[in-house]
Amino acid sequence: MSPTARPAREAHVDLSAISGNVEVLRRIIRTEHTMAVVKARGYGHGAVPSARAALDGGADWLGVADLDEAFELRAAGITAPVLAWLHDADADFAGAVDAGIDLGVSSLAQLERAAAASGPAIAMVQLKIDTGLGRNGVTLDECAAFVAEAARLEGLGRLRVRGIFSHLANAGEADDAAQRSAFDRALALAAVAGLTPELRHLAATGGAIDRPDARFDLVRLGIGIYGVSPSDDRTPAEWGLRPALELSAAIAGVKRVPAGTGVSYGHTYRTTEATTLALVPLGYADGIPRHASGRGPVLVGGRVVPVAGRIAMDQFVVDVGDTPVSVGDRAVLIGDPADGAPSAQDWADASDTIAYEIVTRLGGRIRYTHSGAR
Ligand SMILES: *Cc1c(COP(=O)(O)O)cnc(C)c1O
Repeated sequence: MSPTARPAREAHVDLSAISGNVEVLRRIIRTEHTMAVVKARGYGHGAVPSARAALDGGADWLGVADLDEAFELRAAGITAPVLAWLHDADADFAGAVDAGIDLGVSSLAQLERAAAASGPAIAMVQLKIDTGLGRNGVTLDECAAFVAEAARLEGLGRLRVRGIFSHLANAGEADDAAQRSAFDRALALAAVAGLTPELRHLAATGGAIDRPDARFDLVRLGIGIYGVSPSDDRTPAEWGLRPALELSAAIAGVKRVPAGTGVSYGHTYRTTEATTLALVPLGYADGIPRHASGRGPVLVGGRVVPVAGRIAMDQFVVDVGDTPVSVGDRAVLIGDPADGAPSAQDWADASDTIAYEIVTRLGGRIRYTHSGAR
């Protein structure tokens, strides 16, 4: 195979879709600031190219979980504002301050460590409040002491509180509304303490679209910028979003078999008539969920057919009937439904999970290619 040939297992990312999705979401949401979330390898789309594409589409902040992800963006020469919000006890806060990375701080201990990390550059922090997700952040009970200490450190010139933020549980209208009220109380406590954070933010993609009252100064948009819906009851196309990723593989083998042929481990699939089986060289080691055995949809020879039998570590089989299919033809697992391809959501439905998990777990031997950078 020549080096320029298409990879046998390819996740192709159309970066113009990411830029375009940011533009579409910004028109819907209209906050002053837009953070593109590029954690977890840009949701399995490539962190650095996705970040650049999102900035080209009008995002003015980047969000990641941990500092290693933030340092990777800086190492690639990306100078846009970056916020990282999930830190272990040894995380390199001094390196973050040097690199101009904002620290999301979730405890008094992290606040003190941020202040101690200030050198020639002063630590920029954003205070994380747990308004009801029950995950990271200080609770409302701890909030008064937390913002008082933040204000004291800011008064001493040891850090600057640039933002205050929280994250919704998407647990339903009433719970989200309760979180919004709790966030208002945290903002009031911060104001009483004398803090003037310019970035107040609460919503990720779902909340940003559905809850105008959760938008504040900035929204943190992850899944939506990749053209994947945050929920299984809405399609990205409803908002004008386009999936950026196409996962395909070159068919590695084709054979004609008689009725009654058992397929793959355990023979959970058996042919009912003479038919053609095509072998797709992707398996659970590449992030294809084994739970989608017998169900995951594949576009091959112009038709969508389910995986036949078990998905194995490296490969699975599709029964294409009498459709003419040849070795080297592309089997598309994930793409744009507008082109007849299955979606990440379809694979999520086939394996009882969410589309986030489908795209972020892709890996193994899949080669990533990117096009459409502006
Ligand atoms: C992952 C994450 C987001 C992005 O969520 P989406 O639903 O993908 O838009 C936003 N904020 C925080 C704190 C996150 O961890």
